[in-house]
Amino acid sequence: MRSILQCMDCGRQYPIDAVMYTCDSCGGLLDVEHDLDALKGVATRALFDSRLGTMAAPYNSGVWRYKELIAPYADDDAIISRPEGNTNLYNAPRLAQWAGIKQLYLKHEGENPTGSFKDRGMTGGVTHAKRIGMTRVACASTGNTSASLAAYAAYGGLRGIVLFQNKQIALGKLAQAIAYGATCLRIAADFDKNLALVRELSERLNIYVLNSVNPFRLEGQKAIMFETLQQLRWQAPDWIVVPGGNLGNSSAFGKGLRELFKLGLIDRMPSIAIIQAEGANPLYQAFTRGFDKLEPMHADTLATAIKIGNPVNYPKAVRSVLTTEGVVEQVTDQEIMTAKALVDGTGIGCEPASGASLAGLKKLVDEGTIKPHETVVAVLTGHVLKDPEATLDYHAGRLEHIHAEHPNVILDVEPTVEAIAAALGA
Ligand SMILES: *Cc1c(COP(=O)(O)O)cnc(C)c1O
Ligand SMILES: [Zn+2]
Repeated sequence: MRSILQCMDCGRQYPIDAVMYTCDSCGGLLDVEHDLDALKGVATRALFDSRLGTMAAPYNSGVWRYKELIAPYADDDAIISRPEGNTNLYNAPRLAQWAGIKQLYLKHEGENPTGSFKDRGMTGGVTHAKRIGMTRVACASTGNTSASLAAYAAYGGLRGIVLFQNKQIALGKLAQAIAYGATCLRIAADFDKNLALVRELSERLNIYVLNSVNPFRLEGQKAIMFETLQQLRWQAPDWIVVPGGNLGNSSAFGKGLRELFKLGLIDRMPSIAIIQAEGANPLYQAFTRGFDKLEPMHADTLATAIKIGNPVNYPKAVRSVLTTEGVVEQVTDQEIMTAKALVDGTGIGCEPASGASLAGLKKLVDEGTIKPHETVVAVLTGHVLKDPEATLDYHAGRLEHIHAEHPNVILDVEPTVEAIAAALGA
């Protein structure tokens, strides 16, 4: 059973252990391709179901439970796993009603070890880095990638290096990167510029890049779809709704779903809806023009995890939309923060970027793209504690240009039973 790197544009193939991120001959993005014909009858529902509940590493991970579809060539004991995944799929009837549909599930990827789905990619990427003998790994990050890289590098005994922009880093994410011991470089440049710097630096210093241009990260992130479908007893929903920033996740989802379909683990394809913030919407803009081309832009949104103007995985995300008959939608920061407050208020909670999923779902239902009877899985990408400032500022009415529709205001009360009772309206 052989796995290879393959250019998505010209089809040229490279050995799986080659240290490269784009095609040498045409510059196209690379896919990790496994031998699906050989995997037929091996990677089955029965195999993956038999591993549920196991305590044996690495199959206790919600990524490595599907090892045959992630890295079939890797030795079990070379896998660096926290273990990630095994996140909840919540039934959310009140939010379904608000959005105007009957059946909504929330797949909460904020329940990963460092609080975002990035851990699923990082276990794939760091495992691969170590396999091929790299000692240093680096990324540019809006925050969650660096938190995850820092944790997995430390856990796997590698040196982690992260490039931050110098403003608008959510506190939870910055604190994690520092705590886990990564070398933190604060640079007066936005995410897109920092990513370009990392890619140049890595060539010069032989450092392994773990941004989502790295195809081994996307292999791990495919497991979000594998696990969701397994939790749904392999019955495909009509829609998967996901926020889009650098578009790694939406790219991975399309690839994962295509593989499940080809292997016969699902009998129809869900459609992927990618939601962008209005101030960081290059994929949406291209979608409205029939995907003519990507026009990079200066990005601006409160949802810092999707504040990306030049998404590296654009061609793969387009492929995901086209092969799943999907759509791209945009939402305002106001819509994002309102949706986040609703997710938070149900007791589930998420960071701002994740609010885009629910906000985008409602918009697509209002427009008639998603029908009331259709089943939807909306992905929550990050944990509520990642960006405490955004939450506190929202409820205190301190966010510029944002009206708090669902504020939970702290009551200042005198230390007497009467005053407290009065504050409780009793
Ligand atoms: C990274 C991230 C995103 C964006 O995902 P892409 O794969 O870059 O499109 C969205 N939400 C959160 C919380 C993230 O950490
Ligand atoms: Zn090529």
